[in-house]
Amino acid sequence: MRLLNLGLAVIFCASSLCAQDKPLHGIDVTDIDRKANPCDDFYEFANGNWRAHNPIPASMVIWSKRWAAGESSKEVLHGILEEAAAHSSSAPPKTTERLIGDYYGSCMDEKRIEAQGVKALKREFDLIQSVGSVADLQRAIIGLHAEAIFAPFALGSQQDPHNPTQVIATTGAGGLGLPDRDYYFKDDDKSKEARQKYVEHVATTFALAGYQKAAATAAAQVVMRMETSLAGSSLTNVELRDPYATDHKLKLDEVQKLTPDFNWREYYKALNLDPGVPLNVDQPKFMQEFQRQLQQTPLADWKAYLTWQVLLSASSSLSTPFVQEDFAFYQQYLQGTKEIKPRWKRCAEATDGDLGEALGKKYVEKTFSPEAKARMQEMVKNILLALHDDILTLTWMSDETKNKALEKLSTFNPKVGYPDKWKDYSSVEIARDSYWNNVVESRRFAVRDDVKLIGKPVDRLRWGMTTPTSNAYYNPRLNEIVFPAGILLPPMFDVHATDAANYGGIGPVIGHEISHGFDDEGAQYDATGELKSWWTPDDYKKFQNRGQCVVDQFSGYTVEGGLHENGKLVLGESIGDLGGVKLGYLAFQKSMEGKPRPAEKDGFTPEQQFFISWGQARGDAIRPATQRQFVLTNPHPISKYRVIGPLCNLPEFHKAFSCKAGDAMVRPVEQRCAIW
Ligand SMILES: [Zn+2]
Repeated sequence: MRLLNLGLAVIFCASSLCAQDKPLHGIDVTDIDRKANPCDDFYEFANGNWRAHNPIPASMVIWSKRWAAGESSKEVLHGILEEAAAHSSSAPPKTTERLIGDYYGSCMDEKRIEAQGVKALKREFDLIQSVGSVADLQRAIIGLHAEAIFAPFALGSQQDPHNPTQVIATTGAGGLGLPDRDYYFKDDDKSKEARQKYVEHVATTFALAGYQKAAATAAAQVVMRMETSLAGSSLTNVELRDPYATDHKLKLDEVQKLTPDFNWREYYKALNLDPGVPLNVDQPKFMQEFQRQLQQTPLADWKAYLTWQVLLSASSSLSTPFVQEDFAFYQQYLQGTKEIKPRWKRCAEATDGDLGEALGKKYVEKTFSPEAKARMQEMVKNILLALHDDILTLTWMSDETKNKALEKLSTFNPKVGYPDKWKDYSSVEIARDSYWNNVVESRRFAVRDDVKLIGKPVDRLRWGMTTPTSNAYYNPRLNEIVFPAGILLPPMFDVHATDAANYGGIGPVIGHEISHGFDDEGAQYDATGELKSWWTPDDYKKFQNRGQCVVDQFSGYTVEGGLHENGKLVLGESIGDLGGVKLGYLAFQKSMEGKPRPAEKDGFTPEQQFFISWGQARGDAIRPATQRQFVLTNPHPISKYRVIGPLCNLPEFHKAFSCKAGDAMVRPVEQRCAIW
């Protein structure tokens, strides 16, 4: 069994020691709703008062202190970008200032964007209009893929699940304009209405692009017909949780047989790919449908479909009528947003999306201290140790499987704050004269930057999120947990906060990401990232039975509008939360050993503070329409259930608040779920 080797710095700041001279921050007791009983509704108790006094802003769909912190990061980006844009003309070419300054400056140049209107898309429209044969159609698809307009399928790099040190190519089913394939088939009134509104939205956008009314309506019908067929051949979001369902590594000749009317050698040549590199066809049924449409769908229909895909991809970067129409459908109608975000914020978000590691480098220089990084690394180390100790105590798992689990745990690679190696954007040509061209240029870089990995050994230094992102992730193939600087802000994390606040805030997030290595999906990858079972059959059965408990718990949670959580869809995230809160708590307990007991705050014990911090960091308010889309498409439960779901199962929580059997926050012993 390997020892934990986390590559951490030797000196760690024992929190309460290194911040001696400053008073430590902690949970905010004014956010608590004192009228709520913590044993009855802990979501309301922990920060109901904050929500009551901080309604969701008109331009947001979810709101909490954590979301507010995410938005305040954008103010930092705003400052960086305004400064870069003001001085970019005097900055030397190829510098970060010039790159992000000109990109942002072109995005803020509304006058030029309005004047260009849909003419900005001339190159893409000409490409599509030139299609007169299936061979031309293929050329158009290649041209759009180079701009990251991936329709109907996508292509990118993927670590080979059977040879995890190597990168292969993979397809992805895509090309849909509604949020999920189920939107094309659900037959409740709300879903039918969404489809009708979608067709109207597509027609309106075609009209904005210059189509006559009748032609726009007809084109929208074509789009809906083609997308519905593609959706019908796409896996559901629950089916996609099974890694074997998308595992079909083929030689190029085999892929060619699957879709005879698409010339794969030509496609590979256009991407500069070696034809000897295998291609994982993630959804063969989808590619068969693509082949059927290549044969049977008239070229005129294909042109309408691809034109829509360009408009869909470009609308938010075009003139006001397109931006407004795109907002009206995707954000106002589907999510209930009241107001579009100010232009500077949309442009900051676009710069983060397109040139994220250039902007992110500037962001961390301003915001993220080595002290914060060291404290986070210490917490990550302690939470990994907590799982190590916890695995040893599991009564349901055999020693054989435990050893494998510990082996996997020992290869976890934590990344904190920002990448050690930043992307090199020197091949990206950004100019002030056309925002859309800058978007395309950045996307071309993103495609090149991804495709160049194919056929090579895995590069473990890459990041899948930009540094200002308020989020974190686990990658089962790399067995890595990643925490961008953007999530390491209060109320999640504060270098000057108490252990109770930090272990209760970011702690369960760290534990959550680690637990993903052992959720329904992650548990199928071994210590090297290979898709290979390391369980004894008996232990795996027990693991699945324990997972079923979580499925049943979450399927029982109802959501406004006659919906309920889909336990199978949210299983991995809920296993993550259940393990995350427990591991954060165990690490917190351990952090108190051998030290004077931390102070109470407003009568709340350190243990209570830990759980309140979890409720405050995780709890948020969500608009009903967003909640609907979230429940239908997102593998996370809504935050209310993320807060209370794990706690209902945890005796440590019940003890901290003296909750009794029969209380709403106490699941009957025989229904309690525990995995890790
Ligand atoms: Zn997760």
